[in-house]
Amino acid sequence: MRYYPILILFLLTLAGCPNPNANSTTTLIRDRDEYSANAYKYKPYYQKSNLSNYSNSNAAQATAGKSMGNVIVVVDPGHGGKDPGTRSATGVQEKKVVLNIALHLRDILSSRGARVIMTRSNDAYISLDRRADIAEEANADLLVSIHADYVSNKSISGATVLVGKTASSQSKAAAVAVDRALNDAGIATRATRAQGLRVCQGHSRPAILVETGFMSNTTEALRLVNPWYQKKVATAIADGLTNYFR
Ligand SMILES: [Zn+2]
Repeated sequence: MRYYPILILFLLTLAGCPNPNANSTTTLIRDRDEYSANAYKYKPYYQKSNLSNYSNSNAAQATAGKSMGNVIVVVDPGHGGKDPGTRSATGVQEKKVVLNIALHLRDILSSRGARVIMTRSNDAYISLDRRADIAEEANADLLVSIHADYVSNKSISGATVLVGKTASSQSKAAAVAVDRALNDAGIATRATRAQGLRVCQGHSRPAILVETGFMSNTTEALRLVNPWYQKKVATAIADGLTNYFR
């Protein structure tokens, strides 16, 4: 097709979380196969995926304080240290935004009875393999990786919940539950999608990756750096997980 190379370039720009300042082999969250020509061929970015087939029938929004028993959740704030992730128009780094959201998520999940293990709780650089190992070693019931998105088209906004290409039905159900809870909280979402994600596929445990919004969209970036909104996003994710584990 005549415009195929242009289409591929466009799709590559939608891949999110680019980090122009660091070595690509250590900063890519997604597997190399994500960048293959077929990565988005059958799953257009603007189309909700069919992961909703995995939704639970009783996915009503959880009430705060609901116990999560002895569930083990690995909370994984993306990037960190020498890897800043993407950057908002105002210069705020993704690694800082997602750490704040993740720390709120840790606190909320802990208050509901979950055992939470952080892959990082400060500005540390942690390799993707190490993050995966932490989930495996903890025998985690779920790994939740927190990120913020970037795309060259600054008009695009919304959260996206992702699972790995080889995701289990548990991972997909968790993604759908979080997507639904974000919507219930009034946070617009773009999709629940499966794609190559090393942090989700590099271990045997259920895992999701939440792109909490687009740093490239000025309005959304301003929300994402707002402490109140960071807590709102964390609460919605926690509500989704509470529903999933219920
Ligand atoms: Zn990221």
